[in-house]
Amino acid sequence: MSSPIPYGRQSISEADIQAVIEVLRSDWLTQGPAVERFERAVADYCGAKYAVAVNSATSALHIACLAADLGSGDTLWTSPNTFVASANCGLYCGAGVDFVDIDPRSYNLSVTELEKKLALAKVNGTLPKVVIPVHFAGQSCEMARIAELSEEYGFTVIEDASHAIGGKYQGAPIGGCRFSEMTVFSFHPVKIITTGEGGMVLTNRRDLYERLLRLRSHGITRDPGLMVGASQGAWYYQQIELGFNYRMTDIQAALGASQLERLDEFVRQRHVLAKRYDEELASLPLTLPWQHPDTYSAFHLYVIRLKLDEAAITHEETFKALRQAGIGVNLHYIPVHTQPYYQQLGFKTGYCPQTEQYYREAISIPMFHGLNEADQEYVISTLQQVLE
Ligand SMILES: *Cc1c(COP(=O)(O)O)cnc(C)c1O
Repeated sequence: MSSPIPYGRQSISEADIQAVIEVLRSDWLTQGPAVERFERAVADYCGAKYAVAVNSATSALHIACLAADLGSGDTLWTSPNTFVASANCGLYCGAGVDFVDIDPRSYNLSVTELEKKLALAKVNGTLPKVVIPVHFAGQSCEMARIAELSEEYGFTVIEDASHAIGGKYQGAPIGGCRFSEMTVFSFHPVKIITTGEGGMVLTNRRDLYERLLRLRSHGITRDPGLMVGASQGAWYYQQIELGFNYRMTDIQAALGASQLERLDEFVRQRHVLAKRYDEELASLPLTLPWQHPDTYSAFHLYVIRLKLDEAAITHEETFKALRQAGIGVNLHYIPVHTQPYYQQLGFKTGYCPQTEQYYREAISIPMFHGLNEADQEYVISTLQQVLE
């Protein structure tokens, strides 16, 4: 093997490069017409009314939480099987964070656990203001049930769909916000489509949309209807709340819009790769990804779980053997509540047993558009050698 096979990577075409060059030759580099076009294209693709592009999904989660009025004294609940950003956004707002253990089949936040925890929180007066279901590996959470619970208990749902653009739930694209107030995408290069760095919030609510636009850009408005007192002239703007510079550049948006044209093809190929893994790894001491019948995954990740009692090798040894063979395996995720920062907030190991068990067994193997047949065959045969 020459260079290692990564677990994920971007796929950049000549058309993507041309789209970026065109922006470089134009009048706008920062947020301008290409950002608006990209927002419109993603919103239309997903069937959402509004989209706000920002410089990362982390920023998108932050302003989505602020738009949901999350603040001190409030609590945000999310899955512990996620990237730290899904939880950190609550802390940015001064809110508390808590975790709902995962479903052992889908590795998504468990709706049964959520239901139990909500019933208890109602009694204790500790209901969450925001719940962030994370569509792990690109597979949607059980959103219909989560939406029912949000009605019953009065929390706002923000979908962290960082893994999931191009996926579907009950036949409709993820991002349409049919069961949530807002949905967040990431365009980091390992995700399904990329803008280098970038993210987006989608919503069907005009009020949230306007708030998100403002929060993206310093909390500034040029709308006289929102100003305190009268406008002082054509130059005038007011800062009416505390916002940020979370803007995406036109350079990034042009890349994103060009990538979006290949999104369906990207996800189709990921399914071909997943099917091949499903077939060829079936006889090994592994649990392969289970798919809920309501979902069509974007397959950001392909996670295998080692059956520890059947395999003759440990999780760590398997991981090391694969890395040594030039296969860039990874682990998604270290349970967030076991991170030192969260432990110092009071979370103890043992708090989310399903997530922790999953963590002791999981390995993400290469899955990306452009993974060729020979390389996938090499991954499969290496796994066979290591595990048989
Ligand atoms: C990647 C990721 C994020 C953060 O995305 P950035 O665009 O890198 O800020 C948030 N949540 C999940 C689940 C992710 O995978």
